[in-house]
Amino acid sequence: MPCFDHLTFDNHYSQLPDCFYSKVTPQALENPRLVSVNAGVAHLLGLDPEDHEGILTVTAGKHVPAGADPLAMVYAGHQFGVYVPRLGDGRALLLGEVRNHQGEKWDLHLKGSGHTPYSRQGDGRAVLRSSIREYLCSEAMHGLGIPTTRALCLVDSDTPVLRERKERGAAILRVAQSHVRFGTFEYFYYRNRHAELKQLADFVIAEHFPAFANEADCYERFFREVVKRTAEMIAQWQAVGFCHGVMNTDNMSILGLTLDYGPFGFMEAFDAGHICNHSDYQGRYAFNQQPDIGYWNCACLGQALSPLLNNDVDRIKGILAQYPDDFAAHYSLLIRQKAGLTVPHESDSRLLDGLFTLMQQSRTDYTLFFQRLCDFVPDGDNALLKELFVDRKAFDLWCQDYGVRLAQEPVSQVDRKSAMKQVNPKYILRNYMAQIVIDQAEAGDYSEVNTILALLSNPFSDWKQYEAYAGLPPDWSTSLEVSCSS
Ligand code: AMP
Ligand code: MG
Repeated sequence: MPCFDHLTFDNHYSQLPDCFYSKVTPQALENPRLVSVNAGVAHLLGLDPEDHEGILTVTAGKHVPAGADPLAMVYAGHQFGVYVPRLGDGRALLLGEVRNHQGEKWDLHLKGSGHTPYSRQGDGRAVLRSSIREYLCSEAMHGLGIPTTRALCLVDSDTPVLRERKERGAAILRVAQSHVRFGTFEYFYYRNRHAELKQLADFVIAEHFPAFANEADCYERFFREVVKRTAEMIAQWQAVGFCHGVMNTDNMSILGLTLDYGPFGFMEAFDAGHICNHSDYQGRYAFNQQPDIGYWNCACLGQALSPLLNNDVDRIKGILAQYPDDFAAHYSLLIRQKAGLTVPHESDSRLLDGLFTLMQQSRTDYTLFFQRLCDFVPDGDNALLKELFVDRKAFDLWCQDYGVRLAQEPVSQVDRKSAMKQVNPKYILRNYMAQIVIDQAEAGDYSEVNTILALLSNPFSDWKQYEAYAGLPPDWSTSLEVSCSS
């Protein structure tokens, strides 16, 4: 039996009325090659990760598994603040929804599978370069404990795809419990299709928030939960230094997952105003704007849900008001954990603000700094830490304050170090690492993909043979630019 054909498909989305989607058959890639399989995701779905032929034929669009019911989802969204009334999956298909042995349901989403009615001017393809970046980064986020979509595998092909240059078409099989976005709700709201809006909300609540399903205030609870998850997810992004790059409402998951990896970037040389998306000329999605944009996006969702909330603006505002508090509480907890501060202290924000000011001045490498902070010795010379700062005197003063603050901690130095190592990653997906993988893969050598995937799956591990990937990026990487083109 071909791989996937033994899976139990339970396609609820395709049972919604056809105004929610278009049924589309994937277009096969030419001469497809399996680049990598994520064994963890295969096990999650109940697939054999060694069944390369089966995984390849499905992801390359050559075989639609028995029981799958492929469709492209329709949605709308605010792109860079401007409402676009119809977007939809232009190059991805919801192949079907699989129920695994644990009874969990997973969407199989094929990205790069060709033209759909929502492709607009696009070709419906995804290039190898951007597919590698999504494949690796979604696993990095999962490894870091940040809610995200994941991907089963990555496939390369000879299908020609024209971007700024001629590139090769690729595909990933993305996996998430839902691909419904804020923009899916906006689509029905702005068309005044309130019956379908309600149908969508009832569907999402029944599938993903069943505890609210029979409650009189189910829509309010649902909205409250999405706002909370969004605030907490963005707090996690900020703490780890992740910049999404395109936080349009069509890229905001209704489950609070990191969704749609495009021109993202992890913070390297610290700059609070870092813009990772080369096409984001105004800096709308700069690193330090993400928390406010998360709020703005939740407000868009609130607007879209307003007919289900009796158009009660005060109620909606009341729910949104929880966002800044949720974000601040979660973010400060995460940052204090990174700094090894277990009990909150009134001086903490001054201490940490001072640290960020110094990092900004010195463009200190964010991940490396926190790695080295794990080894901080009060009254020690902390030379490896100090070398990351230009103004050494100012940093010495900060170290003195930090040492005094640590003396108030109830945990031993050894315990603090081990707790800090569990929250401060050693490996993140630096742009240059993705670029090395991309350059090699474009030349036909896929060997580095799995090494980097394994590192990123275990970001807190200490693999001496890969020490170079835990260090500063090479000079050439500073000129790398990532834009929306993918
Ligand atoms: P994104 O900026 O990746 O979130 O994409 C915004 C919209 O454009 C979504 O509807 C995508 O499915 C669609 N899109 C992006 N790239 C392509 C492409 N190459 N072909 C067709 N549709 C695309
Ligand atoms: Mg998108």
